[in-house]
Amino acid sequence: AAEPGASPGTKRRLVVLAGPTAVGKGTVASYVREHHPAVWLSVSATTRPPRPGEVEGTHYFFVDDREFDRLQASGQLLESATVHGRARYGTPRGPVDQALAQGRPALLEIDLQGARQVRQAMPEALFVFLAPPSWEELVQRLVGRGTETEAERTARLSTARTELAAAQEFDVTIVNDDVARAAEELVSLMVDPRAKD
Ligand code: 5GP
Repeated sequence: AAEPGASPGTKRRLVVLAGPTAVGKGTVASYVREHHPAVWLSVSATTRPPRPGEVEGTHYFFVDDREFDRLQASGQLLESATVHGRARYGTPRGPVDQALAQGRPALLEIDLQGARQVRQAMPEALFVFLAPPSWEELVQRLVGRGTETEAERTARLSTARTELAAAQEFDVTIVNDDVARAAEELVSLMVDPRAKD
């Protein structure tokens, strides 16, 4: 998808990647972390416990509610949100400012509520919506396990429908038909392949 209004060669330093639940934002971000070390990835604070294999300071800063409150109250979070009604997540502001000051391309992988807050705070950022290849595919990913009740399925689908409609608020839509392809398209918006950074 082309970036409307941008001249060719315009690369944005700050990119916010968001999209509906279960679309694979985390997987795309992991691919970028692994294959494009020139891109700086924001590390969020979260109140949820680490999953096996997750490393403090690499995947998240794992904090308790009290520490999260402290970060928020002292203005250290660029944005924050409670996701899926469970855990709290937030983007530490200092490291983002630092990366941008150093001229590094910076990527934030956050939820839709957070993306809206960043748009208020940093309208110069590029907002990228990661979309599923089709509605059917998203439904498969959401309800595929078959472990939810009918009511839960209905709630998730209704949320997904609302989330998909948010695409129109974004500058660019990338379809996650293939993780590597989608991630490369994302990086191409940030880093000039001819530049040595
Ligand atoms: P998970 O717990 O599976 O790693 O992430 C759950 C959701 O939280 C994902 O949709 C992810 O995009 C979102 N998320 C992760 N970090 C942040 C953050 O700093 N801010 C916001 N608003 N959402 C986040």
